[in-house]
Amino acid sequence: MRLSIVIPCYNEEPGLIECVRQVQQVLAGIVASGRVAADSNLWLVDDGSRDRTWEVIQQLAAEYPNVFGVKLSRNRGHQNALLAGLNCADGDAVVTIDADLQDDIDVLSDMVDAHLAGNEVVYGVRRSRNQDSFLKRWPAQRYYSLLRLLGVEIIPDHSDYRLLGREALRALAEYPESNLFLRGLIPQLGFPSARVYYDRKVRLAGDTKYSLGKIFGLGIDGVTSFSSVPLRMIAAFGALVFVATVLVGFWVLYVRLFTDHATPGWTSIVLPIYALGGIQLLSLGLVGEYVAKIYLETKRRPRFIIEKMTTDRAWRRRETD
Ligand code: UDP
Ligand code: MG
Repeated sequence: MRLSIVIPCYNEEPGLIECVRQVQQVLAGIVASGRVAADSNLWLVDDGSRDRTWEVIQQLAAEYPNVFGVKLSRNRGHQNALLAGLNCADGDAVVTIDADLQDDIDVLSDMVDAHLAGNEVVYGVRRSRNQDSFLKRWPAQRYYSLLRLLGVEIIPDHSDYRLLGREALRALAEYPESNLFLRGLIPQLGFPSARVYYDRKVRLAGDTKYSLGKIFGLGIDGVTSFSSVPLRMIAAFGALVFVATVLVGFWVLYVRLFTDHATPGWTSIVLPIYALGGIQLLSLGLVGEYVAKIYLETKRRPRFIIEKMTTDRAWRRRETD
């Protein structure tokens, strides 16, 4: 079995060489144990970095015969960079891991074992979130609960550290969606799966590449790519408001027609205008989110464009597939 390791890199120049060195070391150990083939390899995906990441990748590709570089034409985000790597990697099993090695590569061996035991998907799961600050941990946990509440299948405390077998990769290729949230998508594939647990470390070098905006974007994708519950909630809320409006309408008519204390009220006119206006705008915003998704999906734009590679073997694999 040939193992491929995919590493998305966005401005990872400072730590990349060390990262590849460490991954190579662990990989060599697994190769030596005879569980994976000697031609197991690494795929470094440069997600449109602005620093010298691509130069470093080229240098690494020249140095190690089993390291290949893929350069995206611009920054497309972590999820798309992962997908690009998954598409190019030619292993019988592919592991995705972050370039900062926060996810413990020592459990790679356990992942391979779990795969050899018949699991097409092996999830890397964080044992605890104690290393995170409260400000990062709390929203993350609330977010996972929210996703579960909305019916999105998700593995708690699993990020994008996982092993996928060739069958799972083939299945994944059947999903053409543009708003990619792999964490939600992979459990949908089915297949036998296993989890390996690890402790998350501190970043190897550099700062987090996930800006607040990117985290927020990923969070929104997680909900709206997998759940239409928010849409249904709007519909339910709309029905409630409608019923209330009818009741109030009858009451107003009753006061106006059958009593003599009907003051031409300013409040009763202005208040509903504001209330309904607010509700409508909120609802429209949410509906708009889905409409935007439909729009993007129907365009069927490519999710990433590979500019160049240090090898042509990914193309060769595709031709034989
Ligand atoms: N990354 C990427 N494109 C981006 C942002 C991040 O390819 O637009 C990569 C980054 O280089 C790293 C991984 O995604 O290998 C995870 O990013 P990071 O470690 O900064 O996220 P955090 O661990 O802070 O959530
Ligand atoms: Mg990280």
